[in-house]
Amino acid sequence: MTISPHRPSTASSDRDPKEYSYKRPISQIIRERLDRENIPYLANDSIAEYINASEREQLKQEIEEKLQSLFDSMIIDTSNDHNTRETAHRVAKMYVDEVFKGRYHPMPKVTDFPNAKELDEIYTLGPITVRSACSHHFVPIVGHAWVGIIPSDRVIGISKFNRIVDWVLSRPHIQEEAAVMVADIIEKLIQPKGLAFVIKAQHMCMSWRGVKEPETKMINSIVRGAFRSDPHAKKEFFDLIRAHGFNDHR
Ligand SMILES: [Zn+2]
Repeated sequence: MTISPHRPSTASSDRDPKEYSYKRPISQIIRERLDRENIPYLANDSIAEYINASEREQLKQEIEEKLQSLFDSMIIDTSNDHNTRETAHRVAKMYVDEVFKGRYHPMPKVTDFPNAKELDEIYTLGPITVRSACSHHFVPIVGHAWVGIIPSDRVIGISKFNRIVDWVLSRPHIQEEAAVMVADIIEKLIQPKGLAFVIKAQHMCMSWRGVKEPETKMINSIVRGAFRSDPHAKKEFFDLIRAHGFNDHR
């Protein structure tokens, strides 16, 4: 019997092949990469730029295994229970590709255009459906958001606001930080003269558990540029979004 000193060659990859040494979980490989490059990976950070599609698949597999051991620890007989037999698989897929896709999948493409007609009036959009999960309890946050813009020289298609909100909110979040993240992305894309962003949402960690209060909603607003410096612009924004279904008393 001969023993070859050579390992079989690995598939080509744009990553350093030394990263894929034996038995290290893919999450560890990715975390070490992020640490080396000093990239934060808090719950509401996107790490999509630092992982590729095949690593995302491996990550789902690893998360599925960890969820399965969670269910084992919860003493749920998943091998005999037809309802939960595939739950670890379903939840891993749901986390990575759906409810937390804003961490693992890149931002949808947003093309900006010149503001050819030099429009500088306020426009608002909403309600935009907000679906997220709270970082503290991993239970849903659901609600609506409204955007107000006083354009400068760049504009984007109006549906792009919905896509940006969906992408950013599809991570475990704290509502205040989510609002800042959305506002920062819009500001970077089009540098409007004025930017306002409001989220009103219900937190299941308050209605399903804890104080079990289903009526309380959290509202937070961000006003920048002309909406901050000009009280008339700010008032016009809130008047307009009230016409779009926003109300601040219920
Ligand atoms: Zn919570």
